[in-house]
Order: sequence, then C-alpha cells, then structure tokens
Amino acid sequence: MNKTLPDHLGHFGIYGGRYVPETLFAALEDLDRAYRLIRKEKKFQEELKYYLTHYAGRPTPVYEAKNLTEHFGRARIFLKREDLCHTGAHKINNAIAQGLLAKRLGKKRIVAETGAGQHGVASATIASVLRLQCVVYMGAEDIERQSLNVYKMKLLGAEVRPVNSGSKTLKDATNEAIRDWVTNVETTHYLIGSVVGPHPYPVMVRNFQSVIGIEARQYFQKSLKHLPDYLLACVGGGSNAIGFFHPFLKDRKVQMVGVEASGEGIHTLHHAAAMTMGSPGILHGMKSYLLQDKNGQVQLAHSISAGLDYPSVGPEHSHLKDTGRVRYETATDKEALEGFRMLTEMEGIMPALEPSHAIGFLPRLMPKTQKGQRVLICLSGRGDKDIETIRKHFL
Ligand SMILES: *Cc1c(COP(=O)(O)O)cnc(C)c1O
Repeated sequence: MNKTLPDHLGHFGIYGGRYVPETLFAALEDLDRAYRLIRKEKKFQEELKYYLTHYAGRPTPVYEAKNLTEHFGRARIFLKREDLCHTGAHKINNAIAQGLLAKRLGKKRIVAETGAGQHGVASATIASVLRLQCVVYMGAEDIERQSLNVYKMKLLGAEVRPVNSGSKTLKDATNEAIRDWVTNVETTHYLIGSVVGPHPYPVMVRNFQSVIGIEARQYFQKSLKHLPDYLLACVGGGSNAIGFFHPFLKDRKVQMVGVEASGEGIHTLHHAAAMTMGSPGILHGMKSYLLQDKNGQVQLAHSISAGLDYPSVGPEHSHLKDTGRVRYETATDKEALEGFRMLTEMEGIMPALEPSHAIGFLPRLMPKTQKGQRVLICLSGRGDKDIETIRKHFL
C-alpha cells in the first residue's frame, strides 16, 4: 500500500482528483489548506473527541453475535455497533467533525445534500448544537418518499430545499448543494455526506470516519489479542466502509469485503453496483467507477435502501478494487431483507437496510471461513427508519 495516497490533488491511482470549474478550485484549495492545519491542532482534536464521546456516544461497542455464529457454525461473528450512535448511524461522526471545522473556519452556514435524509438529519443535528444555519438540498422525489426525515430536519431548525432538476434525487441535490457553496463560499461550508466529491472531501471524510476502524482495531488487539480475519461492510458512497477498513489496510492478513447493492439484480437496470457493473467516469468532481450508459450518461441507481442508492462510489474504493486489496461483492434487495430478518430474529438487533446487505452476504461468506476465525461487520446504522419499507415487503 502506497503511504502517500492520495497525492496533493487527491488522486488514488487514476481515481479521485478535482474535476471542477475554476471558481470551485480555489474554494477547495482553501478548504484543503485549512483542514490540514486544523487537524494537527490539539484544540480541534480535543473538541472533536469531546463531541464524539459525550454527544455521539463513542466509542461504540463491539458485540459478539453468538447466535448468528452458532447458526453458521464457522467463524465467530462480531458487530461494530455504529447503530448505537446518536441519530442512529455512523453519519454523525463526519457531521460533527465537519461542523467543528466549519466553525473554526468562521463559517456561519452549512449546506448539505441528502438522499434518504439520513445525512440531512445528521447535518441538521450538528447545526442545531453548534448554532449554525443549515440548508439541506433534497430531490423533490426523495422529499415525497422520506417525509419523516424531512419533518425531523425542520424540527431541528434546518431549511429543506426541494430540487426539481434531473431525476429529482440525490445526484441532483448534490449538484445544487455544490452550486450554493460556490455562490456563498465566504459564509458557507459544504458538509458532504460521504467519501465522494472533489479533493479534499474523500480523504477528509475518510479520516473523520476512521474512528470506526481505529476503535475496532484497538478492541480486537486489547481484548481478543488477535485481529479479525475478515472485515465486512456495505458500500454506498463508501464512508462507513472506508472508515472501517482504512486502519487495517496495512494488516495484510485481514481480508476485506465491501458489499454493494445489486437491487433487483445486476443484470437488470435496477441496481446500485457501481464497482461491479460500472466503468470509470466523472461525477460530482471526482473520477471513479460510475454507472453510465453507452453515451456516458449517468444511469440511475436503485436499491431498497436509499442510503446505497448512489450511481458512483468514493475514489479510494475504486483504487482498492483495482489493486485487489479489498474485494467488492454484491447483495440484492432480497438478500438484504433476509439479512435484516436474520439479525432481528437471532440477535434482537434491527439493522438499517444498508448494513443488512453486509449481513445478507454472510450466507455466501461464512462457508469459506473456519472455526476459530473472526468476522467483524460494520453495523453502520439501525433499522427504525426502514420499518415501513420492511413491513411492505414482509406482508
Ligand atoms: C448513508 C448510510 C450508508 C451509506 O453511506 P456510506 O457513505 O457508504 O457509508 C450506510 N449505512 C447507513 C446506516 C447509512 O445511513
């Protein structure tokens, strides 16, 4: 593994970079410079640690799923419990850090994009506690589908702006958020929700989410005196997965599997398997695997879980796929529902539909493992938000 990745313009191999207009380039340079300065400051690190501990509820536990382990009769299965974070998922880790960064930069306003509304709620939450003004861009289509999260954002004091362009979903909301940022860069920070977008976002968000992997690695070393043999995580934009994987990348014996959403199947047009079925292309200021048609038009992504419904993926994942350090597999909507059912019935834990894809991949992973080995899954969020969807499918 090349330790210098990404380079100064954010390239992970051929991926990443900064495919943006000139006006945005300067803003990204400023952000990069400020981030690199601030991340070394003791005061910033202490403040971040305080909020992660006392506000978000870190460190999150590692739980051994003994019933699930017994069910498969192979390796021991462990869960990193990001579902126990404040607001119900790992997204708050990044939102807190970027919120504090925005404050240190003297910005009074944040803008964010959201698809399902999870990142919107996390952003509105930290805007409330850090006393920042918050505008969330959301596709009109998504506003219809996710009314509960829209209401939560409003309760938290955020303004939700509907986006009516394009497919009226996450891809279009992201474009609008970027546009707002360019126009209001003096007062505004763009709080991106995953390891995507132009440099420095993929590396910055990865570093903020690495707290997941750092904690997990420490726990295994200290309490189990052994690292996990397998790491398993779902991949949407890729922030929970890369934050989980990154601190283990140099541990050559630790095998890693990222699970993309294959929706109704990779051979239909209804999936979100960017790395499995896409090809390198440019979206939202970065080069990465991208679902696109013959003419290079972005193909719409589909997944039962709105959080995995993104037609591209963070550039570092694309690089890790090409180098072979991480294996990327897929799970269908049906397999994710099965994963949800398994964890709920056997462990009394209702996972969000996103990490249900990782659980749903277990029937294919476990037969390849041995007794005495250890599989650690990133349980990125809890299932409360998905209960209506689940009810419809299980009826
Ligand atoms: C948003 C979300 C994801 C997908 O985002 P990543 O950037 O790929 O982590 C996964 N799990 C949950 C619970 C989410 O809310």
